[in-house]
Amino acid sequence: MSSIFTKIINGEIPSYKVAEDENFFAFLDINPNAKGHTLVVPKKEVNKLFDLDEATYNGLMSFSRKVALALEKAVPCKRIGVSVIGLEVPHVHVHLIPLHSMQNIDFKHKVSLTKEEFEETAKSIAENIQ
Ligand code: AMP
Repeated sequence: MSSIFTKIINGEIPSYKVAEDENFFAFLDINPNAKGHTLVVPKKEVNKLFDLDEATYNGLMSFSRKVALALEKAVPCKRIGVSVIGLEVPHVHVHLIPLHSMQNIDFKHKVSLTKEEFEETAKSIAENIQ
């Protein structure tokens, strides 16, 4: 069965899309630690980060960098934090999280955003992708 992220990539489940290329897809986390919390996933469905083939791993990091640079421009913050967990969704994803304090990298602290805020944030990040 396809992962929830494969369903998002295929457009079967809606998402606040930020960026996409042939191999990677970035969208806003639906339960964010901070405004702008973004997930970057390879379209290839692999469970664990270090099980990716080297080209996909390097491509994922490169695509994540591109998204992170745009995110930092779109959402004022001290820096972008990076985390890879995958305990909830077994499809590799890089969390890019705008940091204001250590609290933002603690997955017990969440913020709630309106649909309009999600849409406006995704649009703003997308516009800053180079
Ligand atoms: P983890 O697998 O522990 O790295 O966490 C999975 C992350 O995916 C969590 O931060 C969830 O909020 C996020 N998530 C789960 N379902 C969706 C969805 N449909 N759209 C966006 N983010 C999601």
